[in-house]
Amino acid sequence: MSSTKGNWTRSSIQVFSQSSKSRYGPSRVLRERAKKFVFTRELPENPFGKWTKSRLQPDTEFANDIKTHLLSCGKYIAAKDIVNYLNDPEVQRTHGLKKSISAATSKRWMHKLGYRFVRNHRGQYVDGHERDDVVCYRQSIFLPKWYSFEERMRAYGNESSDESIPHNPSQRPVVVWFHDESIFYAHDRRKSRWVAQDESPTPYAKGEGHSLMVADFVSADYGWLRSKDGKRSARVIFRPGKNRDGYFDNDDIIKQAEVAIEILKTDYPDEDHVFVYDNATTHMKRPPEAPSAKKMPKNTPKDMLHNWGVEVTSKDSNGRTIFRPDGKPWKERVPMGPGKFKDGTSQSFYFPVGHPKAGLFKGMAEILKERGYGDWSKVRYECKGFHCDPALKGDCCCRQKLFNEPDFTNGKSYLELACEKAGFQVLFLPKFHCELNFIEQCWGRAKWHYRLLPESSKEEDLERNMIQSLEMIEIEEIRRFARRSRRFMDGYHKGLDGKAAAWASKKYRGHRVLPDTILQMYNDENHG
Ligand SMILES: [Zn+2]
Repeated sequence: MSSTKGNWTRSSIQVFSQSSKSRYGPSRVLRERAKKFVFTRELPENPFGKWTKSRLQPDTEFANDIKTHLLSCGKYIAAKDIVNYLNDPEVQRTHGLKKSISAATSKRWMHKLGYRFVRNHRGQYVDGHERDDVVCYRQSIFLPKWYSFEERMRAYGNESSDESIPHNPSQRPVVVWFHDESIFYAHDRRKSRWVAQDESPTPYAKGEGHSLMVADFVSADYGWLRSKDGKRSARVIFRPGKNRDGYFDNDDIIKQAEVAIEILKTDYPDEDHVFVYDNATTHMKRPPEAPSAKKMPKNTPKDMLHNWGVEVTSKDSNGRTIFRPDGKPWKERVPMGPGKFKDGTSQSFYFPVGHPKAGLFKGMAEILKERGYGDWSKVRYECKGFHCDPALKGDCCCRQKLFNEPDFTNGKSYLELACEKAGFQVLFLPKFHCELNFIEQCWGRAKWHYRLLPESSKEEDLERNMIQSLEMIEIEEIRRFARRSRRFMDGYHKGLDGKAAAWASKKYRGHRVLPDTILQMYNDENHG
């Protein structure tokens, strides 16, 4: 036996260093294999199976790795970028590949990864990462909120970078919980499925094999969210699909948040907690009467009979839907709630009592006029199909103009209202920025473990294997993932775009904070 027996880390690095200079990447993989080898006394099967398109499962380390690489390629990406990346011997070693993929497969993957083809840039793809509205949200809403509590967060460094910061005892520490959903498939090795980057996973249709969805919270401080005695958790396991549990909707998201709040209030009352969610429609659902420019008429309706309002489903005093005799839900029209002027005062969208048009909806033109934007009665209602020219910055049509108003853009969602009532802050990630949600890497790690377990032929096996693989992730790994996502936050905060942030994250691997001069360094190194 070797002299390093019993010390997995050192012995696997030793083995690996015979074939490569890289110390941290692939040796970890080898370490896992070596562990398994000893425990089972047989060679582990290749966790990835054969080299087929089944390799492209969502939320896997492999998929996350490709996404990060594409991010580093900048705004416009060619299908060849994946091919070239997978031709790199270092990458092939890391992922246990023998060869790259064909151009046709690469094109298919691009679409599956949520990239779309741009016609005026021949052969290039684009995703929404650097889209104006996405960058605007990231820089002017998301990051300021994040940095409003960042200094109260604990930080966890690693051995090579001493960046650990215990919390300042004069301040209440902030714990940030990242939320996400992921789907585990019984026949993980055989099927491939991708979702667009800013969408929630779509479950398999009935009959395509078992699948289970898991939704959970994770923090760098404590790992998965659970009570101190470990008996209660906010984890939801869901059997997606028709004739099963249906679909995970906004009500489920809120119920889950309420469980999380209850646990944290009881067991972690001395810390403030922030929930971070993806910018998915399911998470962002807003009360129907919240300000929205959709369907809003441009002009004041002629009389009360034709007045405008929001259609909502009628509920009885117990909150249950009222149905019509034909079985359809009863609908009623309610006034849209008020908006806000720039100074924060309330703007009713209906004329006040005493006004000749009292009670009537004002219409978009009048609402804009009251906001100090002048006469909009001659401006069109909306551009065709609401496909506005971004160069006009919202001055093209009434709907786009209102759509960009802060109270229309940032009206509170049900989720925010429910959490804030309990004193918990909610933060929505910018769209397309999966690198900021480190729970995705936790799913990737768990699925890596999952593939090493025996195949889940029965639904109970699937659930047990899924839970087991989630528990196999260690807190040190979680903190490493968290450091990486904070490196990206820091990059965007210091003025980097996606491409530069991916470059910086790689260069300062292991660190949480980038040098203050990082933007200058990037420019010098890449354009100098
Ligand atoms: Zn427009």
